[in-house]
Amino acid sequence: MTSTMDVDMDPLGNTCRIAQVLLPLPLPEAYDYAEPPGLELAIGDIVVAPLGPRTIVGVVSGFKPPAGSNRRLRPIIGLFDAPRLPPGALTFARWASDYAAGAPGAGLALALRGLGAPRPVLRPRFVRSRETASNLTPARLKVLEAAASPMTRAELARASGVSAGVIADMIRVGALVPAKAEDPPRETFDADHSPSTLNESQAAAAEAIGQMVAAGKFSVALLDGVTGSGKTEVYLEAAATALRLRPTSQVLVLLPEIALTEAAIRRFQDRFGAAPAQWHSGVASPRRRETWEAVAEGRARIVVGARSALFLPFVDLRLIIVDEEHDGSYKQDEGFVYHARDLAVARGKIERSPVVLASATPSLETLWNARSGRYRHLRLADRHGPAILPDVGLIDLRVSPPENGRWLSPPLVAAVQDTLDRGEQALLFLNRRGYAPLVICRSCGERMKAPDTDSWLVEHRYTRRLVCHLTGFSMPRPELCPACASRDSLVSVGPGVERVEEEARLLFPDARIAVFSSDTAPDARSARAMIEAMERGDYDIMVATQSAAKGHNFPKLTLVGVVDADVGLRGGDLRAAERTFQLLTQVAGRAGRADRPGRALIQTWSPDHAVMQAIASQDRDGFLTTELAEREVLGLPPFGRLAAVILSSHRPDVLEDFARAFAAAAPNAPDVTIFGPADAPLAVVRGRRRKRILVRAARSVDIQTFLHVWRSRRPPPNSVRIDVDVDPYSFL
Ligand code: ADP
Ligand code: ZN
Repeated sequence: MTSTMDVDMDPLGNTCRIAQVLLPLPLPEAYDYAEPPGLELAIGDIVVAPLGPRTIVGVVSGFKPPAGSNRRLRPIIGLFDAPRLPPGALTFARWASDYAAGAPGAGLALALRGLGAPRPVLRPRFVRSRETASNLTPARLKVLEAAASPMTRAELARASGVSAGVIADMIRVGALVPAKAEDPPRETFDADHSPSTLNESQAAAAEAIGQMVAAGKFSVALLDGVTGSGKTEVYLEAAATALRLRPTSQVLVLLPEIALTEAAIRRFQDRFGAAPAQWHSGVASPRRRETWEAVAEGRARIVVGARSALFLPFVDLRLIIVDEEHDGSYKQDEGFVYHARDLAVARGKIERSPVVLASATPSLETLWNARSGRYRHLRLADRHGPAILPDVGLIDLRVSPPENGRWLSPPLVAAVQDTLDRGEQALLFLNRRGYAPLVICRSCGERMKAPDTDSWLVEHRYTRRLVCHLTGFSMPRPELCPACASRDSLVSVGPGVERVEEEARLLFPDARIAVFSSDTAPDARSARAMIEAMERGDYDIMVATQSAAKGHNFPKLTLVGVVDADVGLRGGDLRAAERTFQLLTQVAGRAGRADRPGRALIQTWSPDHAVMQAIASQDRDGFLTTELAEREVLGLPPFGRLAAVILSSHRPDVLEDFARAFAAAAPNAPDVTIFGPADAPLAVVRGRRRKRILVRAARSVDIQTFLHVWRSRRPPPNSVRIDVDVDPYSFL
């Protein structure tokens, strides 16, 4: 420590309190600081405090009585210029950290992220008390005169020519009191601006959620209806109920993709006559700060955002909606690992707010909760109005394979041609960016791999580069094979969207064709532009990854072709079948609207697979029931708990030893099974070797505490990092 100062007592002899300040750092507990006299801190106050030679922004999480007289603590520097973190947000941030088996400050870092870099410290301001004091010296009367409007201590001292000690004493006796911020105006949402007339099942669902909102208690509902059945209409009504409840009530709507927020915002705006606030990584930082403050002050009443919006400082959260709740993007896999759907339910519990999970293909976890009665199950009838669900057909690639080096089978090509002839649109879906997923050498068999990571390099034709999708590493496509130096021996293996586009241009030379992926539409604006062009009918064929599979309505789209339905089934992780089913159902659901019936054709090498059969027969419930039964037998989520522990290091020898010792140190607990250590499927990432241990536990086991005890028994050497992923979605 550079400067320590005795602050047990202020100059007037008042004893100072000790403030416990939670810092947004991976520390095991809050730090103690002295509360400077006159600051009058409260729990949730965001403060600037010294940390080593620097300063840091943290949150007051508690107080302790003054310690013994020789205790030397550094004082808090001052209040950070931002509203207080509401109790729910603080509790939630701590809870989320525990849940992720992380340090208490990890969740707080997310809660404070919107504040950006520390701004100048806000000095507390004071005004004169309403009660008139008697027997005042002329000097003190002068101070009171100056304190008609809020001023800092220094300003008051200067304005009235008295010493700082006089001001401090006037604060102590209550002649000067802290100034309160005025209530700024709120967004004006009109709950009755332009409501829709709901159909029968929509009205029933909206009514049920309305009752949950009015009850003002924690509860969860699954809003279950096919794409286009009006789930959005229903939750707009539910939001209206929440807005009518009180002038302060707030609503949070989570969406899995930034690309979906603009459309959602438009619908809220149309419905309520004002635009909701948005919160995601695409929002510029000054704007984020504004939004953060508006949420904390209760001015922002509807927030539409990505998963990190869960950490916003809501003061009166009355409804949380998680749209497309099954979506894998809700799982944050890196850094602070969490699943936004589970955390949304937790935040609802903390705020005593209902939570609505909406989906056409609910996750197994949610469906299981609904079936066992923990969640209300609200079902919507088919598509609203005359629209009907698409016909889904399988194309057996063993029977009708594409030509050599091509990816579209004759039946699919014919169907696309038909569609174009009718002046309608086709979507070719392939969940693979770039041109080819693999580049190999024809002479020596070398596969092009990233230099420091165990992943194949993906060829991108537009940029003429080979790219590692995991780390972002890229290099120009070499002329010579790096292994055997042969010229022109490198060949592209397998299809990506760019290659399917190339094939489509050959087959349909007159068609207007576009590729939609995170490469061609890297941000919300460009995604929006492409989606609008598709809506207008500017394209005949769109070749797209899953970014286009979600939520958009294309009125002239009547054919969806799935180029490689088997992609997601390879690699075999726990959720492969579930995920494939959800994705393909969503994609197929894009076809057909209003008066035009749609068709989905799915190319597969394994048409007998349970997933393909379920999609073809549109037997969602049958499929989910079988999946649930399998998970139950294996003791996997939602019937059991899983956690992945990844140990990584630049030093393979140290890692090897530690992994063995760490596994051996696992606490002996009934109903917990440890698998590993084994090489992680991605055995090297950015030069770090990785080992994986899987923990499977019964539902009754507190897996967070188990992990905590385990880790404290065997702290890693400096060169080894431990990452814990509770309820992993990625098994790499
Ligand atoms: P989902 O969210 O289930 O995909 P949406 O709420 O987006 O469904 O509804 C699909 C389309 O049908 C939208 O264009 C929506 O405006 C329209 N729609 C659904 N229900 C109604 C209704 N009750 N009145 C008018 N339009 C409706
Ligand atoms: Zn070679």
